[in-house]
Amino acid sequence: MDSNRMELGEDYSDIRESVAKLCAGFPGEYWRKLEDTRAYPAEFVGALTASGFLGALIPEQYGGAGLPLRAAAVILETIHKSGCNAGACHAQMYIMGTLLRHGSEEQKKKYLPEIASGTLRLQAFGVTEPTTGSDTTQLRTRALRDGDHYVINGQKVWTSRALHSDLMLLLARTTAVDQVKKRSEGLSVFLIDIRAARGHGLEIRPLDAMINHNATEVFFNDLRIPADALIGKEGEGFRYILDGMNAERILIAAEALGDAQYFIERSTRYTKERIVFGRPIGQNQAVQFPIARAYAETEAASLMARKAAALFDAGTPCGAEANMAKLLAADASWNAAEACMQAFGGFGFAREYDIERKWRETRLFRTAPISTNMVLAFIGQHVLGMPRSY
Ligand SMILES: Cc1cc2nc3c(=O)[nH]c(=O)nc-3n(C[C@H](O)[C@H](O)[C@H](O)COP(=O)(O)OP(=O)(O)OC[C@H]3O[C@@H](n4cnc5c(N)ncnc54)[C@H](O)[C@@H]3O)c2cc1C
Repeated sequence: MDSNRMELGEDYSDIRESVAKLCAGFPGEYWRKLEDTRAYPAEFVGALTASGFLGALIPEQYGGAGLPLRAAAVILETIHKSGCNAGACHAQMYIMGTLLRHGSEEQKKKYLPEIASGTLRLQAFGVTEPTTGSDTTQLRTRALRDGDHYVINGQKVWTSRALHSDLMLLLARTTAVDQVKKRSEGLSVFLIDIRAARGHGLEIRPLDAMINHNATEVFFNDLRIPADALIGKEGEGFRYILDGMNAERILIAAEALGDAQYFIERSTRYTKERIVFGRPIGQNQAVQFPIARAYAETEAASLMARKAAALFDAGTPCGAEANMAKLLAADASWNAAEACMQAFGGFGFAREYDIERKWRETRLFRTAPISTNMVLAFIGQHVLGMPRSY
């Protein structure tokens, strides 16, 4: 597809309507209660799975809906616009892509139908490590071949949902970094069966965090996994992970856009109703303009996200657009969150209004799954041809 002559494509108003209806059953009170106990939104994820939305991207031949990425983006955007949070389950949508694109037919037949039906949860993605952070190719977790097995040692951090997932997609080094030409080589992807591994070399500890994202630390201590847990070819794993990143960026941008719309809707309504000094606070330009600006930023980011999804769905390169969509949407949602928080005054801090919860939640997009600086570095180097900065 020629990116200068493209159409933005379908916007799935029917999907928006059904997802919004489902989300109405999970109001702010539901999410606040979960935060009180750091619990996982099992009922919400169950409802999304039962409705088929979580299997949107799984091809029909494996029991999914076989929808394009734009449809999945609409699902996630609507969840966030409705005041809910897809962080409990969104990874399933993009992790599954690695299995779909690079897994063997046997692996796909074994796992995808059960993932689509919800009997198997693929929610955990182990990449980030405590000592190497954004410098992914330096990660230290090792997987060494031993006959029909691999033996894994190392540690991951911030692995979301590992305690609520049956499977984990793991990136580990299979060839030492000093034995490869490029440090992006020698990394491999494995599909770990958490149920079989826990207590046999795999330990998962919850990590207390600012938002209820069910984050964990994961420890591998001589964990033996069958060799057929390897996805694709040994040593090619970094390429497979990169392959899935455009989809991830576009879906995360959709969530940020949903949050931005939530904040704009809430703050617009509130500032029309809240009377101080004898007039609605929204009549003051200092209150109105940050909301109006956030709206303009959200609309612009939304166009970029739709462009990225249209390119992705046409099978055309979309790295620049996917990264820019994620960057712009994360900034738009944060600016909308700030405008909303400020407009609500002291009430923005009252938990029952949900503004502070959404404000904390949307801050994540500037840090994870990739931080703003790393996106800027990508644009500088790969789009503008400037020297690599890291
Ligand atoms: C709630 C939550 C959930 C997460 N879930 C997952 C998950 O499920 N799986 C997973 O693998 N990871 C997960 N992560 C990890 C997340 O992807 C990382 O936190 C993120 O990629 C940043 O890495 P880091 O925290 O190690 O920061 P660092 O790499 O230590 O960077 C710290 C800061 O320095 C900046 N920086 C570093 N180097 C440079 C440079 N060369 N130039 C400019 N700036 C630089 C970064 O942009 C960042 O702002 C999660 C994180 C959080 C907070």
